[in-house]
Amino acid sequence: MSETTTKKKFKQGDILMREGDKGDCAYVIESGNVEILVHREGQPLQIGVRGPGSLLGEMAMIDDKPRTATVRAIEDCVALEISRDDFARRVESADPVVKMVMRVITNRYRDMIGRTQFIRFPPSTAAEDAEHDDELHNIALSTIKVHHELKGALEKKELTLFYQPIIDVQNMKIAGFEALMRWQHPEKGMISPGVFIPVAEESGMIVELSRFALDVAAENAPKLQAAANPELVGKKPIFVGVNFSVKDFADADLFEYIDGKLKEKGVKPEQIHLEITESLLMEAPETAKEALEKCRARGLDVSIDDFGTGYSSLSYLHYFPIDTLKVDQSFIRAMTTHHASMVLVKSIITLARNLNMKVIAEGIETQHEAEIVRNLGCEFCQGYWFAKPMPLDAALDFMKNWQPPRMEAPRRAGSGK
Ligand code: C2E
Ligand code: CA
Ligand code: CA
Repeated sequence: MSETTTKKKFKQGDILMREGDKGDCAYVIESGNVEILVHREGQPLQIGVRGPGSLLGEMAMIDDKPRTATVRAIEDCVALEISRDDFARRVESADPVVKMVMRVITNRYRDMIGRTQFIRFPPSTAAEDAEHDDELHNIALSTIKVHHELKGALEKKELTLFYQPIIDVQNMKIAGFEALMRWQHPEKGMISPGVFIPVAEESGMIVELSRFALDVAAENAPKLQAAANPELVGKKPIFVGVNFSVKDFADADLFEYIDGKLKEKGVKPEQIHLEITESLLMEAPETAKEALEKCRARGLDVSIDDFGTGYSSLSYLHYFPIDTLKVDQSFIRAMTTHHASMVLVKSIITLARNLNMKVIAEGIETQHEAEIVRNLGCEFCQGYWFAKPMPLDAALDFMKNWQPPRMEAPRRAGSGK
């Protein structure tokens, strides 16, 4: 699936790559220093020293030409290896313009190096090189690092799901939860999905993360249901919303996997909601439609996440089998101060009702916001005012002991302030 970066240790004097060899990988130095050598008339000539954070051997990996230099550890080193296959996969999915620019830059860079490497003396130092690191370079390196660590995180069970309650505000009952991923890093503490999900999406590792989220959600949905104080829930079973990403639908075995997992854990399909964003649907509408039809056939609920932010035309709502719209929190936030946002929220709620879809208002932070959307006819709310995302234990306790907050008596739809 995503066999990508591996960590390698080198002893002092070890050769990381040799001049003239085929470039099947690149390295990012994590610790220690290496020297770059070229051989002239049989004699090695040191042309540079590189330290932590340096990227080495990328050119031969990109353009498939022989290595132009030898890299040797001058002390014990640790380096992340980026395989050619991983790189090729990333390039494959890149924009054609990016591909072209990369090719041109690589050629220019090779030319330049060919012209200058024997002139540049004394050799450049790690500090000088660091100066030349541009922002893009740093972003690329941090992506590679996060990806490498993320792979370990899944194996070391540092990834976990938090659960944020979704409340039926028409009768003040707990309807379900959204499962939100967290990375409990041993040194850096809790890492937000905003940091690692994009990296996982880019590297293809998201498919493993989504399966993991589905596993854990399927495991815990029955536990949440079993913990319920009957007074706090409605008649329908408690659901858990799981976030899915662009690449998940390309996973040919996804539905077979979901079927197997639900059966294994004894979970009803309606207890799992697949949350996907509009942009996912639009990126590959045919694939998405096929996938959503498979959801529908199985009774899995499909929710459109961040509704209103991604796509300007609403006609797609007829095209795809969709069960729920989640109104993006930016509209909720602006609703009380901007009339246009209020109109938008109202329209989305009306639209959903006319199309027989459910609506969840996301990011409800105040009683006032909750009352407004409820008065507009919105069924479900999710947000800090009700509860923040919490670990499983706290969510089980929430199912037993939640104290529904007081809201003003409902007004007629449309008469909200
Ligand atoms: P999202 O799917 O839109 O999730 C809602 C985000 O809003 C969550 O942030 C949640 O903690 C936050 N939130 C909820 N109520 C409030 C509120 O009242 N006020 C404010 N300001 N924020 C609120 P979180 O957990 O940081 O997740 C961020 C995003 O990361 C998610 O946005 C989702 O796109 C992605 N994500 C999280 N877990 C997963 C996952 O398991 N798989 C995938 N593919 N993406 C995930
Ligand atoms: Ca979501
Ligand atoms: Ca959202």
